[in-house]
Amino acid sequence: MAQIKIQNVRKDFGTFNAVRSSTFTVEDGEFFMLLGPSGCGKTTTLRMMAGLELPTSGQIFIDGEEVGQRPASQRDIAFVFQMFALYPHLNVRRNISYPLHSQGMPRAEVKARVSEVARILDIEHILDRPVGGLSGGDRQRVALGRAIVREPKAFLMDEPLGALDAEFREHMAEELRALHDRMGATTVYVTHDQLEAMQMGDKIVVMNHGVVEQFGVPQQIYDWPATKFVAQFIGSPPMNFLEFEGTVGKGASEIRLGEAVIAVPQQLEGATGALTLGVRPEHIRLTPDAAYRGQVLASEYLGTTQIVTVETVNGQIKARIPSTVIVKPGETTGLEFDARTLTVFDSETKAALLSVANKGVHGHG
Ligand code: ATP
Repeated sequence: MAQIKIQNVRKDFGTFNAVRSSTFTVEDGEFFMLLGPSGCGKTTTLRMMAGLELPTSGQIFIDGEEVGQRPASQRDIAFVFQMFALYPHLNVRRNISYPLHSQGMPRAEVKARVSEVARILDIEHILDRPVGGLSGGDRQRVALGRAIVREPKAFLMDEPLGALDAEFREHMAEELRALHDRMGATTVYVTHDQLEAMQMGDKIVVMNHGVVEQFGVPQQIYDWPATKFVAQFIGSPPMNFLEFEGTVGKGASEIRLGEAVIAVPQQLEGATGALTLGVRPEHIRLTPDAAYRGQVLASEYLGTTQIVTVETVNGQIKARIPSTVIVKPGETTGLEFDARTLTVFDSETKAALLSVANKGVHGHG
C-alpha cells in the first residue's frame, strides 16, 4: 500500500488560488479525512493526489517517489467518485471486472479477484444481476468493488456518501470503515461533515480557504484546535468564544471576565492584549453561585442533554448540560468552566496559544 506526502502544494485556476501551500502526510494504511466547508479546496487537493489536476507548484510523493506532474494513469490510485457511474447494460460481475478486462488480465485471475471482492463486500448473491434494479447501497458496493478489484495503492473518495439519506449514510460509513480495517488500504476521504470525519478518520486535515488549518488525530483536533476556525467548525454547537483583554502564560493563572476571575491553563504560550477564551458547551456547568453570571434565554431539549443559551457580558454562550437539570428562561445563573479544558486564542491572528506540551501535536502546514 502507500504513503502519500503533500509538500508545499499550491493550485491556481487562472488568477484564482484554490489551494495555498499545503503540507501533510497520509501514512500507509491510514483512513485520512480531508475536511472543510464548501469551496475550501479539498476536492482540488484530492484530485491533485489522483493526478486529475496537476499542482501549480509543490510536490506530491507516493511511497517516496515524486509523482506531482504525472497523469492519473501513471499513479496506481483508485478514485471513487460521489456519483457512482455504473455501466447499466452490464451485470454486477461485469461492472466489477471491467477494469481488469481492460488491463488484459487473464480470465481465471479476473474470476478469482471478482470472487474475493464479492466476498469482502458481501455481494456474492447479486453477482449475476443487472445493476439497474439494485438498491442504492448495493450500487455503492458494486462501485467500491470496481475500485477495490484493481488492488490500487490507495483509494481516494470524494464525498462518497453525499447523496445518501442520513440513516443509510451512517450504515455505509460503518461499512466503509470496516472494509478499510479488513483491507488496510490507504484511504483519503473528502467530506464537509465534521461528524463523519471524527467518526471515521484516523487523521483529519482541516482546510479553509485553500489553507491547511490543522492536521492530527480527531481527539487532538477536538481538544486542541490550532485556530478559531477549527474550534468553530468542529463540535456542535461550536466552541463559545469570549473576548477579553488580559495576560495568559508567563506565570498568569487567571483572567478577568467582567467582574469574575476565571482560572486558565498556566502552561500556555505567553501573550498580553486582545485575547479570546474558547469554551466548549459541554465543559460548562451551571451553578447558582459561580461569579461569572448570565441570564438564561432558552433551553433546547435533546434527550439526555439540553443546550442552554445564556446571555452574558461577553454575548450569548451555549452550555450542554444534563436534561435532568431544571433551568427556566429568565432566571440568572452562574457559569463555571473547567480550567483544564479551556483554550485561549490570539484575537488578531486567531491562532491558539498552545501549551508547550501540546505544540507538537499541531501539524500546521
Ligand atoms: P466542495 O465541497 O464544494 O466541492 P471543495 O472544498 O471540494 O468544495 P474545491 O472543489 O476544491 O472545493 O474548489 C476550491 C475552489 O476552487 C472553489 O472556489 C472552486 O470554485 C474553485 N475551482 C475548482 N475547480 C476549478 C476549475 N477547474 N476552474 C476554476 N476554479 C475551480
